[in-house]
Amino acid sequence: MDELRGEVAPDKRPRSFGLLLFSVEPTPVRDPHLLAWSHELAAVLGLEEPMERGPAVEVLAGNRITPGMKPFAARYGGHQFGSWAGQLGDGRAISLGEVAALDGSGWEIQLKGAGPTPYSRRADGRAVLRSSLREFLCSEAMHHLGVPTTRALSLVGTGDSVVRDMFYDGRARPEPGAIVARVAPTFIRFGNFEIMAATGELENLRALADYTIRHHYPELREPSEAVYLSWFEEVCRRTAIMIAHWMAVGFVHGVMNTDNMSILGLTIDYGPYGWLEPYDPDWTPNTTDFGQHRYAFGQQPQVALWNLLMLARALSPLVADAEGLRTGLECYQTTFAESQHQMMLKKLGLTSLDPNADKEDTALLEELHTSLEESAVDMTLFFRHLSHLAPQLLSDTADEASLFQELTEAASYSTEDHAKLLHWLHRYAGRVRGESSDAETLRASMLSANPKYVLRNYLAQEAIEAAEQGDLSFLQRLMAVLKTPFAEQPEHDDLAAKRPEWASNKPGCATLSCSS
Ligand code: AMP
Ligand code: MG
Repeated sequence: MDELRGEVAPDKRPRSFGLLLFSVEPTPVRDPHLLAWSHELAAVLGLEEPMERGPAVEVLAGNRITPGMKPFAARYGGHQFGSWAGQLGDGRAISLGEVAALDGSGWEIQLKGAGPTPYSRRADGRAVLRSSLREFLCSEAMHHLGVPTTRALSLVGTGDSVVRDMFYDGRARPEPGAIVARVAPTFIRFGNFEIMAATGELENLRALADYTIRHHYPELREPSEAVYLSWFEEVCRRTAIMIAHWMAVGFVHGVMNTDNMSILGLTIDYGPYGWLEPYDPDWTPNTTDFGQHRYAFGQQPQVALWNLLMLARALSPLVADAEGLRTGLECYQTTFAESQHQMMLKKLGLTSLDPNADKEDTALLEELHTSLEESAVDMTLFFRHLSHLAPQLLSDTADEASLFQELTEAASYSTEDHAKLLHWLHRYAGRVRGESSDAETLRASMLSANPKYVLRNYLAQEAIEAAEQGDLSFLQRLMAVLKTPFAEQPEHDDLAAKRPEWASNKPGCATLSCSS
């Protein structure tokens, strides 16, 4: 607010104009009460868990502004489903300000669903419990999986209802409202730069780029043309690593519009996301995308590249030689390919030996992807089972055939024969025997790369349905288990089970609308 020409809004009427951000206060809600709290993030920030109701929760709901806060909404646009959509927001996220963590690092605290801003267009600025709970749970689950992500500190019920047409079928109904306090070094997105470039506000574009570099990429030193290029390259590199993580855990973002891409390479804006259950590169949970499958699991690496290209276009007025931005895009491709290769090898308990073995490993990985798809294998279950099975393959007396049968039965949703997958497993068995590690080391390494627990789509839905009835116990249990997703936790085996049949088509479990 001090550095970026923020302006005080006399009112919240919709508008679009030359500012980067707009000072705006949250709109109070009726009965703010705490529903969930992230102890891990709070420990980083040095915050204590608040009481269910009271001044702290009033802050987390936007009802109370404390001295030193300078609430604002940032202005951004974006490409949605491949087309320029103009100015989009931020229509319902209001940042309260920045806090210093115990280690001195700075974190922005942002309330999603805190009421209208001058960028709300005709929408209400609010969010419903079901989507807020999904954002809260998944941000923290992703963090514990080691995936770069924005965080979530609290989930607060508002006591107000919010009207949404969840199925887009004209049957709007009131739902409980909620607010997530989400936390990240910054929530700046590709779209913040795109809107400035699209409207020709080059001074603002430069100011935002310089601000981002000075505060969030200080290692690059004072902004200059050369620094803009190395900054863009670094954004590309981080984005590549984030996408490789998504592909390794089976996460589908669902709505990778450029306004949902963080300038820090963090997973941001948890909407109609989903976790791959039967392995299918063409799968998307987002009903709005059922026609195109633009944001399907297997498309994500390409879409991220396209989004980076849109960012490069937006930044091109800052550099005389826009061709220089190409280096960044190339960096994305090589970093993604390398990271994905390394992450997949790690999941298989393999270390890359020499460049010749690398080629064979690439072929092994390609065959794995087609085999998993043909057998409709549950990605999480498959790799977790393999982590227990691979060490047994090292023994001379291993009965491969029965081990493999056990694995396919446990992990596959298909009753067809698994010829391709069995072929791959034999090939893999040969490769893993060539590893020098002993069984225990192999098991430990694979178990640390292949989570047992992910936020299966139907589990999130069960937590929502219970929470809507006032029962938070399942939400709390999920939060606790997803804190250590690589640990066995046998008493929670039911949360690591194959998706039940009833959940395969149920809204919220396998399909989600953007309504939130
Ligand atoms: P999304 O596709 O969910 O990322 O939404 C795109 C943008 O629309 C968001 O960044 C918000 O600025 C805006 N938006 C979505 N829902 C609302 C709402 N209920 N009120 C105001 N703005 C909204
Ligand atoms: Mg968004």
